[in-house]
Amino acid sequence: MDEESFRDWSMKAAEWGVEYRRTLRERPVRAQTTPGAVAAAIASSAPETAEPMEAIFADFEETILPGMTHWQHPRFFAYFPANAAPASVVAEYLVSAMAAQCMLWQTSPAATELETRVIDWLRQALGLPGRFSGVIQDSASSATLAAVLVMRERALGWQGNREGLAGQKPVRIYCSDQVHTSIDRAIWVAGIGEQNLVRIPVAGPLRAMDPAELEAAIRRDKDAGRLPAGIVASVGGTSVGGTDDVAAVCAVAKKHGLYVHVDAAWAGSAMICEEFRGYWKGIEEADSVVFNPHKWLGAQFDCSVHFLADPDSLVKTLAIQPEFLKTHGRDGVINYSEWTVPLGRRFRALKLWFLMRAYGLDGLRERIRNHVAWSQKLARRLAKTPGFEIVTQPMLSLFSFRHRPPEGGPADDHTLALVNAINDAGQIYLTQTRVDGQLAIRFQVGQFDTSEADVDAAYDAIVEAAAALAGK
Ligand SMILES: *Cc1c(COP(=O)(O)O)cnc(C)c1O
Repeated sequence: MDEESFRDWSMKAAEWGVEYRRTLRERPVRAQTTPGAVAAAIASSAPETAEPMEAIFADFEETILPGMTHWQHPRFFAYFPANAAPASVVAEYLVSAMAAQCMLWQTSPAATELETRVIDWLRQALGLPGRFSGVIQDSASSATLAAVLVMRERALGWQGNREGLAGQKPVRIYCSDQVHTSIDRAIWVAGIGEQNLVRIPVAGPLRAMDPAELEAAIRRDKDAGRLPAGIVASVGGTSVGGTDDVAAVCAVAKKHGLYVHVDAAWAGSAMICEEFRGYWKGIEEADSVVFNPHKWLGAQFDCSVHFLADPDSLVKTLAIQPEFLKTHGRDGVINYSEWTVPLGRRFRALKLWFLMRAYGLDGLRERIRNHVAWSQKLARRLAKTPGFEIVTQPMLSLFSFRHRPPEGGPADDHTLALVNAINDAGQIYLTQTRVDGQLAIRFQVGQFDTSEADVDAAYDAIVEAAAALAGK
């Protein structure tokens, strides 16, 4: 591709992006395609000779686009959002053009120094104390893996990396049954083993782990010669927003010298609003906190921020040359690849800088406040609509509901039929979850461009789909 054509296609891509965003409401939210249909339309081997860009671009529109689920659609109410506010997309164009590998300070000093700054902007915005520093990870899963590795190494006197886990006392990690599956995978990958992930029973409307049960489990493990290492607390669990009492968890951890990692991947963004910080009261006592600005804050995917009260323990766990610790950060030179499992690093700080400057913290707060208010309004409307019940009350902007099956038929079948009917209609996109053994439909508001009218449209789409099913 020559310079002229690089210019033309870059412009065309940018124009395409703007038009795509402008017309999103006209598209079905979830891809309306069957398994294998896209693959069948793609050649089975790469071309030997170059093809014109016109043909490639046309195939993108014709073959790929219909197989996309539109995460930036303002009526995307499924999972959690993966936002990409326009200003952060523009930053990603620039990052993509520069394509720097930012593993060390010297491989792009600006990327490192901007990362340190925007992490501190976010720390202040979330109300975390000044002793927290942090790093941008690709995903919350990676941050949680890193935190679990620190728990393991700390408990083993920093010998696990050298000696492996054979012959060691079983390393024990504690969490509730509301945590994300990334915790399980971190435990597997860290070699700790699922049977050493201790699930503490939950209680109360927020499904918080019971601190007394947590402490009892730790004591039992100590008595049995096992090695308690750390606790993963959840703030805003993926299923229905399960949230632990961080202060109580940290108090138990302190008593037993355990490391606390808080997974607030989704809910963390809401903490830029002071009124929501009650959900993570006690957070200043945690050792490690992860939240994904790519979820609710608006940063282009991927962007996960990992805060640390003591980054040295992380560097001690992950750095290849721990002698680096001697000057670690103090001469202004930080090599962030020593804070993460992958060595290579994209320049992720730029989109955070663009995002926070282009919208201002107030602009970002207003969106989150609106999302919470609109979600609560929808929950109230559904609660008053005959045939519907709210299964879990809103935690921030997430709640779950069910519709009564006709003539006492199987509830799960009806719930699945309803969520499928809603998604097939294409107006909105929702997902289901299991609550106390029974399916429920999740609803969350979080897409950057969602309006109150979009949430009102969701009410109509849900009620119409339920009425159509009942009429069958
Ligand atoms: C989304 C989510 C994760 C996983 O995040 P990734 O960045 O995709 O790894 C973990 N925990 C919670 C609570 C989440 O909502």
